Amino acid sequence: MSEKKPENGTAAGDRLEAVRGALISWFVEHGRDLPWRYTRDPYHVLVSEVMLQQIQVTRAVPFYLAFLERFPTVEALAGAPIAEAIRVWGDLGRYRRVVNLHRTARLVVEEHGGEIPPDPEVLATFPGIGPYTAGAVACFAFERDVPFVDTNMRRVLHRLFFGPEVPDARAKDREILSVAAELVPRGRGWEWNQALMELGALRCTARRPLCDECPVADGCRARGDILEALSASPRAAKKPVYRYKGSNRYYRGRALAKLREAPEEGVTLRDLGAALRDGFTEADLPWVEGVARSLEKDGLAVLDGAKPAPGTPDIVAEERPAYGAEASTGAGETAAVRVRLP
Ligand code: SF4
Repeated sequence: MSEKKPENGTAAGDRLEAVRGALISWFVEHGRDLPWRYTRDPYHVLVSEVMLQQIQVTRAVPFYLAFLERFPTVEALAGAPIAEAIRVWGDLGRYRRVVNLHRTARLVVEEHGGEIPPDPEVLATFPGIGPYTAGAVACFAFERDVPFVDTNMRRVLHRLFFGPEVPDARAKDREILSVAAELVPRGRGWEWNQALMELGALRCTARRPLCDECPVADGCRARGDILEALSASPRAAKKPVYRYKGSNRYYRGRALAKLREAPEEGVTLRDLGAALRDGFTEADLPWVEGVARSLEKDGLAVLDGAKPAPGTPDIVAEERPAYGAEASTGAGETAAVRVRLP
């Protein structure tokens, strides 16, 4: 691959207008029809942004619609018990997000009169809202011309203005954010940021970018190197397969599914363990207690009748543990501990 120096600010500035025009035109023609693109309701936009992080767009759509059907306003979400919010969140996973979203809804109602604030710096003070989500809500709900970058946007900007991002990044985050800030066109921040995200999702993908179908290929500083690399290895290396079944997330997800269906008082640890693992025995109680306590730590479950267990690891063992370890209480007592949604 050829070595390229990062483009200086002036050279980048010369190309901004062309890049903006080409990308926005492409987005208008090729952008996907997604429900959150039809709203400027700050709460709806916030829900979509919280749901979309590291979740495929097509997977998130039905969850987004179902969540808003049950909780159409920030007041509706704030007024609901957290257990109900977790139930309605369904199988989307990453359940800490719904806990934070619910906390945010309550703070918005209690401290901001039910109005989600438009200022990204204020937004970033709410639970679980980082600089990306704060910028996205400010832009997509309030049409503020603010820059923000997620993984996809960072990759696109790096390739366009600095060259390939692998094997070593050629620009620091602050440099990329500075280019992002320079690029946001006045009065068209909403379209621009949507277009940048869409390019990262549909064309400038991480593993196999479609440079030949890219609207901003002209002058892209990564295109030559990427085409060269792709022609040398036409089939991209297979991504290592993430073994979801049997992972911590797998058991946490299944435990929450069981709790969502359970009566309000929840289920015993013994029943929870039997639902999660075939051939569950008393010897598996420390393991299922670990699963329940990891949910408790994230505000997703409550253990009734359990003693505090300082020694209980908050990382759930993926495989059966060495069962010589003592449970936090006697086995009989542990088995009877009830686990429920908060
Ligand atoms: S030309 Fe290729 S690397 Fe450059 S922005 Fe387009 S898809 Fe990405």
